[in-house]
Amino acid sequence: MGITSVIKVLLIEDNLAEARLLHEVLKGATRQEFRLCHEKRLGDALNQLQTQTFDIILLDLTLPDSQGLDSFVPIISQNSHIPIVVLTNMNDEELALEAVRKGAQDYLVKRHITLDILVRSICYAIERKQMEEQLREANQALEKRVEERTIQLLKAQELNQLKSEFVSMLSHDFRNPLNTILLSAGLLEESYEQLTREQQLSYFQMIRQAVQDMNELLSEVLLLGKADSGKLKPNFNQLDLKDFCQQIIHSLHLSFEKNNQIILNFNGNFQEQLELWDEKLLWHILHNLLNNALKYSPQGGQIFVDIIAEEKIVTFRIQDQGIGISQESQKHLFEPFYRADNVDNISGTGLGLSIVSKCVEAYEGEILIESELNHGTTFTVILPRQQPVLGKIE
Ligand code: ATP
Ligand code: MG
Repeated sequence: MGITSVIKVLLIEDNLAEARLLHEVLKGATRQEFRLCHEKRLGDALNQLQTQTFDIILLDLTLPDSQGLDSFVPIISQNSHIPIVVLTNMNDEELALEAVRKGAQDYLVKRHITLDILVRSICYAIERKQMEEQLREANQALEKRVEERTIQLLKAQELNQLKSEFVSMLSHDFRNPLNTILLSAGLLEESYEQLTREQQLSYFQMIRQAVQDMNELLSEVLLLGKADSGKLKPNFNQLDLKDFCQQIIHSLHLSFEKNNQIILNFNGNFQEQLELWDEKLLWHILHNLLNNALKYSPQGGQIFVDIIAEEKIVTFRIQDQGIGISQESQKHLFEPFYRADNVDNISGTGLGLSIVSKCVEAYEGEILIESELNHGTTFTVILPRQQPVLGKIE
């Protein structure tokens, strides 16, 4: 950048004689042209600074509307890019030094000012300020780059760790059903003749169940992958919400051999066949939450399912009297493969809730949890309600 040919100086000085003197001194400069703007009061100078640009400020520290560093602070805070040279009397050098400590480039004792000293001080102050600014900008840019790179590195590290955890958990969860298939198929192959018809059927059923489990696991992993790449979007279709919820509960109830009682309550206004819902996302949400409520409940524990329809939202609340989740575990529930340490030998992969949270996210809904160890858990999901379809479907 360097120094421009005409240097615009803002002189803030209440003493007219001093101002005139400085004016005269600067007129004598031959190598550099100075254009001086003179203000007697701090308020007027601040106004000037709002409307004009200056290369340098010469500031007298004793002004009628402000004293000492009180004048310096508002100027430097609003014009931190303009260098300031403080003008001082013989007896207030200490004050001038304080101004330098607070960011002024230099100070001059008025009585000692000569053309040479003044020009040198102004040019030096401008050069130094420019260098300071460049340094500050370079520093800022560097800090920003370091920050960005650190975030990238942390993300990459986290992602790598997550990936390897994911792969090892997945292989483990695939190996179980695969072993079942391998063992059952081997037994059927070697001892088919010796097995009773019931035994044969039960091995075939085990194989079928294992294949089903693997298929379910695979579709859950695919769903998570889709959610992570931002491709999980709701696809709305007409649905009878009440009927749909009843069916999910019915089929889950059948698949559990426990004698839990599920108490289903509908509140509010439901429109049969006229509601718009994404059936797949809703299924994953309700199926997983109900499945957990049943799985983590003791024999005979009651499960309350409340579905409340309001104008803009529907709230699904699933409350169980099961093993509960500690405060610490609640922080990790939605991480893939996470399982709390009180699950003992209740089986599971730890994917259910991460799928629920992705589906709720895709729906732009909200999920809340309240739980107490050994007392029970309540999951509340709030989903926005689409506008009902006008007219009845054929
Ligand atoms: P799956 O993938 O088969 O659903 P999972 O049930 O273990 O396996 P999530 O549904 O993701 O996995 O649940 C994660 C963990 O949260 C569970 O392992 C359990 O520790 C805890 N949890 C979830 N729901 C409940 C509940 N209703 N009561 C107590 N603990 C629960
Ligand atoms: Mg589960």
